[in-house]
Amino acid sequence: MSSVPIYQIGCPNGHTSELPETILEEIIQYLRASYTGEPVLNFVCSDCKTAFHFDYQNRAPVGHTDAPRQISEFRVLSVQSGCDGNNCIDNVMLVAVRNRDMSEESVQQEPQTWNVSGVKCKSGYRALPFGTSKHPPFQFFAGGL
Ligand SMILES: [Zn+2]
Ligand SMILES: [Zn+2]
Repeated sequence: MSSVPIYQIGCPNGHTSELPETILEEIIQYLRASYTGEPVLNFVCSDCKTAFHFDYQNRAPVGHTDAPRQISEFRVLSVQSGCDGNNCIDNVMLVAVRNRDMSEESVQQEPQTWNVSGVKCKSGYRALPFGTSKHPPFQFFAGGL
């Protein structure tokens, strides 16, 4: 079995988690299939709920593993939010990777607590908080409902 690179996902407040290349690829593939344009990956920290950009193109592994964690071990949800640019048609993708045992209620309520002020759309406008745009709320693509 070939060894899989591991990447560290770090929020601006110093919380980190690690995801294998296989899960990152599945997330990117899902975003490509579900939304138009090349995906821009923004994660939301599970500790402080801060959204931050992850530079997928320039990622560098922090290690390797022969037994990577599987995406089915997590709940992964994606939220499409708008930006504050007038007439801007870009959207901001937010991806939250959570433990599989997170309660349904917590998952439903959590996006309202997200701090998205640090992420921007491709045109450089600030993301709007969850619930303030007309887009569909959120969808799961792993460990869903
Ligand atoms: Zn954090
Ligand atoms: Zn925009």
